[in-house]
Amino acid sequence: MMTTYTSPWMNEELAFFRKSVRQFLQQEFVPHDERWRAQHHIDRDGWRKAGHAGLLLADVPEEWGGGGATFAHTAVVAEEVGYAGISSFGCAVQEIVAHYVLAYGTDGQRRTWLPAMASGDLVGAIGMTEPGAGSDLQAIKTFARRDGDHYVIDGSKTFITNGYHADLVCLAVKTDPSQRGAKAISLVMVETGDLAGYRVGRTLEKIGQHGQDTCELFFDDVRVPVANLLGPAESRGFAQMMEQLPFERLLVAISAVAAMELALDVTVRYAKERKLFGGTLLDLQHTRFTLAECRTEAHIARVFLDSCIGRLMAGTLDTATASMAKWWLTDKQFAIADACLQLHGGYGYMNEYLVCRMFADSRVQRIYGGTNEIMKELISRAL
Ligand SMILES: Cc1cc2nc3c(=O)[nH]c(=O)nc-3n(C[C@H](O)[C@H](O)[C@H](O)COP(=O)(O)OP(=O)(O)OC[C@H]3O[C@@H](n4cnc5c(N)ncnc54)[C@H](O)[C@@H]3O)c2cc1C
Repeated sequence: MMTTYTSPWMNEELAFFRKSVRQFLQQEFVPHDERWRAQHHIDRDGWRKAGHAGLLLADVPEEWGGGGATFAHTAVVAEEVGYAGISSFGCAVQEIVAHYVLAYGTDGQRRTWLPAMASGDLVGAIGMTEPGAGSDLQAIKTFARRDGDHYVIDGSKTFITNGYHADLVCLAVKTDPSQRGAKAISLVMVETGDLAGYRVGRTLEKIGQHGQDTCELFFDDVRVPVANLLGPAESRGFAQMMEQLPFERLLVAISAVAAMELALDVTVRYAKERKLFGGTLLDLQHTRFTLAECRTEAHIARVFLDSCIGRLMAGTLDTATASMAKWWLTDKQFAIADACLQLHGGYGYMNEYLVCRMFADSRVQRIYGGTNEIMKELISRAL
């Protein structure tokens, strides 16, 4: 965390909010993180506590049960989760699902889902990826067949964050077999409670982010009311996803910068304490130069991120710039985590050391939310 620079979007009220979020995470989440990593999901009441403390849907209008604040508040929550060094809490996905409902839902849908998501009673997940379709989203096979006033959904999803706890899945499906590609896709909100034919599969074993419930989801003749379609008509799903992805990518970028700042703080502290060759690790020029380079890059990252946050709040963040932030900042996060781990020597490879977990956690940031290769593809289209 830079001491001589303050993000231009910060203010006194946000600083106060930041303090309360930090206190909450230190008291209610950090002590449980090791157990949550072992069980591969957070405790259910962690969601409700987070809702009660105002961490969920901070930027959703009060009339829909949210905090009625700005995206800066959401950014503060995302940063503080990063600074706390916990990767178990899928609050970014909760935000993303809420923003789909806010953007495309009817008033009735907003009333039904958003207050419950803000309180943590309802956990959201986003179901796009399938075993046969990740980057190539148009290739999804999960099909929603119309049957009266219901859809009958068949198919499966994989790598779904919050999958174990999910009560509400924003599901990408094909609704129109006569259409090819993007035009065939719609988003349907699936309420999973006591839903016949719905099954949560394995919680997947990952190399990092062990506390996140990343799951397979199965849909076998699942009946969902047509009223749960998101948007005024079918075939809008692909366009809706493309519209919302910059928001998702910015949340990934925020967590990337918070993680690099934390990794550097942890490593500077370690380098000051670690004794070797009659001095400290920090006395070695290589250590100082490595940390100086990383600190410089983290600061460049921070300033770019702040510009993106400002632009999102002003409604001017375009897809190409959000994609730049996602790829570059997550690549830097990984490189800095690697450099910091190296400076810890063998201890950096031990799971009990935060820097080890941060290195493992950072790897997936280059993959999800659209891979970094897809980000470059999107940027190149705007050249
Ligand atoms: C921990 C975790 C959590 C996730 N959470 C969710 C979630 O909550 N919801 C959800 O729907 N999905 C989620 N995902 C899925 C994630 O978004 C996909 O893994 C990602 O989009 C890539 O898809 P894929 O795995 O099928 O890889 P593929 O699409 O098969 O890609 C394989 C390789 O090919 C490259 N590639 C693909 N297309 C191109 C191209 N056009 N040009 C150049 N290179 C290309 C990719 O960059 C990659 O390197 C999660 C994944 C992980 C690992």
